[in-house]
This record gives sequence, structure tokens and C-alpha cells, in this order.
Amino acid sequence: MNFHILTLFPEMVMNGLNTSIIGRAVAKGLLTIEAVNIRDYAFNKHQSVDDYPYGGGAGMLMQAEPVFLAYKAVEEGILNRKAEEKEKAEEKEKTKEKEKDVVTGEAAEETAEEILEHHENDKPLRVVYLSPQGDTFSQKMAQDLAREEDLILLCGHYEGIDERVLEEIVTDYVSIGDYVLTGGELPAMVMVDTISRLVPGVLHNDVSAEFESFQDNLLEYPQYSRPEEWHGKKVPEVLLSGHHANIEKWRRQQSIIRTKERRPDLLEKCELTEKERRMLEELY
Ligand code: SAM
Repeated sequence: MNFHILTLFPEMVMNGLNTSIIGRAVAKGLLTIEAVNIRDYAFNKHQSVDDYPYGGGAGMLMQAEPVFLAYKAVEEGILNRKAEEKEKAEEKEKTKEKEKDVVTGEAAEETAEEILEHHENDKPLRVVYLSPQGDTFSQKMAQDLAREEDLILLCGHYEGIDERVLEEIVTDYVSIGDYVLTGGELPAMVMVDTISRLVPGVLHNDVSAEFESFQDNLLEYPQYSRPEEWHGKKVPEVLLSGHHANIEKWRRQQSIIRTKERRPDLLEKCELTEKERRMLEELY
């Protein structure tokens, strides 16, 4: 998956994302992250990226043109890359035609076909504007966005961005919560981190992303590691039993109890069995 972040502070984004799990995934080629400096596209007389808002009011606004040009440069890069991939795949297809009777190159032929098929289904690019006015970011939204091959994230600063360019390029408005930050860089990093964990191969163990908080509208069960006893608190017996069915049952119960206590709003959307409902009624 390829992330393209349009920002006035590229070093902030790159420094925040080039360590630990995400950094390793980039090194392995599972992800690419480019931060494009919008300031590099300020070709006006004063090379400015911001100006006063019409009608007055506090603060400055990011101007439309540098944002638009930065977006166009990213879009062109993506389209060129896709065209190159398509051309290479077509070449391979032609070679395959010529070598029809030769039983070689199976793997390469399949990949070429896959690439061509993939490009036939090309959708318009998703461009997310990080904004406190957007839909609240969620695990479900991350799962949806993780299916994209390219994702463009636009970070505002100052009092935001001229509405006209947003109307032209933005497909999704996303907020990370009901509070106002100074810029879209931290929200963009939050999104890249969350979405990247869902890209196959990024987590060592794909099962780690399989049952986590928010899966099926439940929070994750409590977890324990060594030692078996710490500060007089013992690890629940069932987890030491090696009985997988009982462990799963215990974990599911704990998830339900935890969600009831910490996020009852989520539990309302969760599908529970009759037995699980009775358990809750007995407890609360
Ligand atoms: N004047 C804007 C408003 O009231 O909606 C807020 C602008 S904010 C100071 C500057 C930038 O920070 C925004 O353009 C946006 O990119 C980012 N931002 C601030 N809070 C955010 C949030 N909760 N979620 C996502 N982005 C946020």
C-alpha cells in the first residue's frame, strides 16, 4: 500500500513514521510513505502558502493553488506508476502469446494477468482531508481504506484550507476526534499507523490483527505475560490450562464483560447469544 501525505511539515510526518513496526514494513517494501511538501508548490510571487480569509476573522488560511499543484504532482506520479505497471504486464502477456507451447514462466504469466485485471478495476483515487469536521475515524473505516492501493492524506494547518480546492480534490473528510489540533499531521500519522497494521505481512503474526478491540463491536479481553504471579496477582488459571476451547470461551466472556463496563454503547451493536445475554443479566 502507498501513502502520500500532503503537508507543510514533511519531516514531522516522516520522523514519526519511520520507526518500529511501520518503519520495518517500509524497509520490507510492504508499504511506501511519501510526504510531499506543499510549500514546494507555492509558485506565486511571494512563494506563500497562506493568506487572510475573505470576510475577516482570526488566523490564516492555506491557499488553494499550492495544495492543488501538490495534489496534481502526486496524482501524476501514481498514474505514471500504474501506466508503467500496465505496460510491463502487457509486454509479459505478449511474450506469453509467443511462447504459447512452451511450458515456462508460469508464475510471471499469472502475475501479468493479475496486474492487468487489477488495472481494469481501477477506482478513482481516495483523497482524505484530515479535518475536525469529518467523519470520526474508526477501525471499520481503517479496514475499508486498507483495501486501497494508494491513499492521499491532506493535512491542513493554520485555520484550515480554502474550501474551493477541497471541493475539487477531496473524496473523504476524516476527524480523529472532537477536539481541534494545530495541524493534520498527527491525525495523518494516526491513520497511517492504524491502516498499515491491517496490510498483510505488516504485523509479524497476522492473527494479532484478527481479534482486537472493536472487532465485532467488542473490546479485547485482558492479557497476561510472565511471571505467573506479580505483586500477589495470579494469572487466571484457565490461561495456564492449555485447554484451547476453555481459553476461547473465557476470553469471549471477558470481552463481553469489559465492553459492558467500559463501552456499553458498543455492546448494543454486538451480536450476543442467548446464553451470553443471560450471563450479563446475572452479573449486572
Ligand atoms: N478552523 C478549523 C475548524 O474550525 O474546523 C480548524 C483548523 S485546525 C486549527 C488546523 C488543521 O488541523 C485542520 O485543517 C486539520 O487538517 C487539522 N485538524 C485539527 N483537528 C483535527 C481533528 N480533530 N481531526 C483531524 N484533523 C484535525
